[in-house]
Parts: sequence; structure tokens; C-alpha cells
Amino acid sequence: MAMQAKKSAGTKAAKKSGKRLTGDPAAVKSSRGKFNPLAPERVSAILEILERTYPGVRCALHHENAWQLLVATILSAQCTDVRVNLVTPALFKKYPTPEALAKAEPVELEPLIRSTGFFRNKAKSLVGAARKVVQDFDGQVPETMEELLLLPGVARKTANVVLGSWFGRGDGIVVDTHVHRISRRLELTASDDPSQIERELMKVIPQARWIDFAHEVIHHGRVLCMARAPKCVECPLETLCHAADKTWSTVEQHKLAKGKKI
Ligand code: SF4
Repeated sequence: MAMQAKKSAGTKAAKKSGKRLTGDPAAVKSSRGKFNPLAPERVSAILEILERTYPGVRCALHHENAWQLLVATILSAQCTDVRVNLVTPALFKKYPTPEALAKAEPVELEPLIRSTGFFRNKAKSLVGAARKVVQDFDGQVPETMEELLLLPGVARKTANVVLGSWFGRGDGIVVDTHVHRISRRLELTASDDPSQIERELMKVIPQARWIDFAHEVIHHGRVLCMARAPKCVECPLETLCHAADKTWSTVEQHKLAKGKKI
């Protein structure tokens, strides 16, 4: 799953600001003088830069109600939002409500969602979720994490997307592939497990920022901090980032330039 920016994104915003926000290097040292990636001042600087760089980012999955967002998010597993957005119009036309989908057999859905990958499992999840919503929730998508997790095919990531993007509830943080990768690059976590990453992020990021943080990071992952060859030279977070796979380092460039002068 990914997000889109309402206004500008990374490069433009970074260029517009005309400067890099570096944070205070002294502020990210622990009392013993060691670099502390989770120092509140460093985390605040990262959040501030993300917010300023990606103002107004929203979920890129097309939807008009909670049910459509739930369906689109289930389909987005291991698939791009662009692909999901190509598939959902026909799906929503044929099965406009949970009631309509609950009456279908998974095999009937498969041709419509085949291009999103893992289509057999996704078809089962969608029909299973529709039946559960109809039988146990009066046809309405539930609004709590606990209840959403009862639906087939729904884990915390999907529940967080629906809660945050439709109901405006920041009960957790969406950890998709972008949040996973970038949180590790920024040393906000060292874990490789999405549940653990979410728990660790929830400890260092203020709850009021949980929804937008995920939107911003997901967008950052699409426009600058890609899995392969991130565009670090254009990244407004670059001076705060020590990722091993950075493709540009201002500090190293300064050192090189100094060496040349000597
Ligand atoms: S400097 Fe590079 S690796 Fe670090 S956050 Fe920016 S784009 Fe990603």
C-alpha cells in the first residue's frame, strides 16, 4: 500500500525550503556521549521534516467508504496501489456492498482480482470478511482494532489503514514495506518484525502523529527512499540518516573536499 501527496513531494519541497534541516548534533548524544538514534530531539526533527516535506498526504487507494478501503487494502498486499486502483472499479461495480460480496463464492472473484497476485487467498479473505461483516456487524465495517482483527485477511496493518484513513483513529501505526524499510534506515527500530517495529515506533512517536507519520513515510518511500538506489542527495533527512546503503553523504563529501584543499 502507498500514499499520495495532495501538494508537493520530497524533491520539490526540499528544494523550496532551500536548506537541509540537520537537527542539533549535540542533541542526539546520550549522557555518555554516544549517538542515540531515539533521542527525542532527533525523532522530533525527523517528524518535523516529514511533515513539512509531505504536507497533506493521504491514502492512495481509491475508495468511497470504509468497506471499499478495507477491500482495497486487503488487495494491496504484495501489490502496488496503482494495480489495485485498476482492479477495484469493476469489483465494486459487481459487488457494491458487503452483502453482495457475502453471497459470492471466492472462485467467482478470482478473475477480477487475479492481477493483484495471491488472488486465491485474497478472494477467500474478501468473501470471508464480507460474510463476517454481514453476520456479526450488521453490514458495517467495525471501528475498533479488536473487532477488525476478527475479519478474515485482516491483520494490524490493514486494520490500522482503515482506522486511520477512514475513521481518523490512530490506534497504531501502519507498518508496510516502506515504513519497515525506512524506520530501519533511520534507526527508529532495529527489528525486522512488523509487529515489533510498530510497538517500537509507538514508543518514540507521539500518538497524535501516528496516522500522518505512516502516510508521510510511505510517500517518502515512493518518491525518494526507494528500496534500491534511494535518492539520498535529494533527501531532506539525509544529514540525520546513517543508513548503510545511503547513496550520498554530505559529511563524507565535506571530508573529501577538505582533504583536497590540504
Ligand atoms: S538519506 Fe537516503 S536512505 Fe536515508 S532516509 Fe533519505 S533517501 Fe532514505
